Amino acid sequence: MKAQLAPGYYLREAGAIAQLGGLLTEYGHRRALIISGSLSYQAAQAALEATLREHGIVWSVCRYRGECSDEDAARIAEEASRTWDMVVGVGGGKVLDLSKLVASLLNLPLTTIPTLISNCAATTPNVVVYHPDGTAKASRVSLVPPLWTLVDEDVLQRSPAPYFGSGLGDTLAKPYEALVGATSGSLLERAALTMAGLAADGVRMQGADVLRALAQGGSHPYLGSLTDAVLLAGSLVGGIGGDILRGAVAHALHDALTMLPEANAALHGEKVAYGLMVQEVLLQRLPEDIQALRHVLLGLELPVTWSTLTRSPTLPTTSILYALAQRTLKSPLLVNRLPEVDVQQLVDAMRFTEAL
Ligand SMILES: [Zn+2]
Repeated sequence: MKAQLAPGYYLREAGAIAQLGGLLTEYGHRRALIISGSLSYQAAQAALEATLREHGIVWSVCRYRGECSDEDAARIAEEASRTWDMVVGVGGGKVLDLSKLVASLLNLPLTTIPTLISNCAATTPNVVVYHPDGTAKASRVSLVPPLWTLVDEDVLQRSPAPYFGSGLGDTLAKPYEALVGATSGSLLERAALTMAGLAADGVRMQGADVLRALAQGGSHPYLGSLTDAVLLAGSLVGGIGGDILRGAVAHALHDALTMLPEANAALHGEKVAYGLMVQEVLLQRLPEDIQALRHVLLGLELPVTWSTLTRSPTLPTTSILYALAQRTLKSPLLVNRLPEVDVQQLVDAMRFTEAL
């Protein structure tokens, strides 16, 4: 049994960013290397710089260039020198994953500050690494998992609703994917499945209403618990239950889709939502269960077919479909997991999904 739990400290409250300077000071940190994108930094800048200034923390901001790649992490680590004592990632999933790579290269502790409610990158030790051209390269466990995660409700209240919808899709997929891998029935595996199920239940029951409220600039009593579901519960599922619960066909197909330009504009959770539909068709779930899933995803404004994912009216050519299916089934998430599934069955499932 292997469990990988992070972060050591998770704080979600209005104004959470203002706690950073005090935390750094309390634990003897004086120099913060911030990694952020320009839009994400704007979302947090005023509160972040105020608390750092107030506590006399020296900081520098390194810019993310659009991909979480080994090359970009090496560039930032090279530029940063070794005089820092804390890495602070501020942004969405790829920025936070990049900050894990940099923290590992510099062997420094890591604080994450998510500016979107879009996935569990802020809390998971896992990093999805991309090639500089945006195609998926590998999923790794970072040597430096997030130590502190500060979830500032004031920032997230203003975050774009489509990213939240994407995060809800990613969270909804957790129990479906975890069930594909679950085998042992151990205490930790059952705890992980329960966590995944509770998070997904929250998405099913409240997701559409909370998404609508956020899109209209309003608040909602369940926004906090759905934020925890997206940012924390998802990573605890794999953290407690082990790698085998981290993903299945939905995430494997997501990774394969990164090689296609027509899917580039789709957010992580949008590709996962489509992948989840294909997964459930492939696994021959009951038609009423597949329709219920489709209904929930549509309520979250997530794609349930290729045409809604890519805005292209038809499926790609047969050769592209086969390449996608081959790449999906070679994913480390699926190797030795679904031995009875072949490329033809996956292509058939994609075709069938389109006709639902
Ligand atoms: Zn995901």
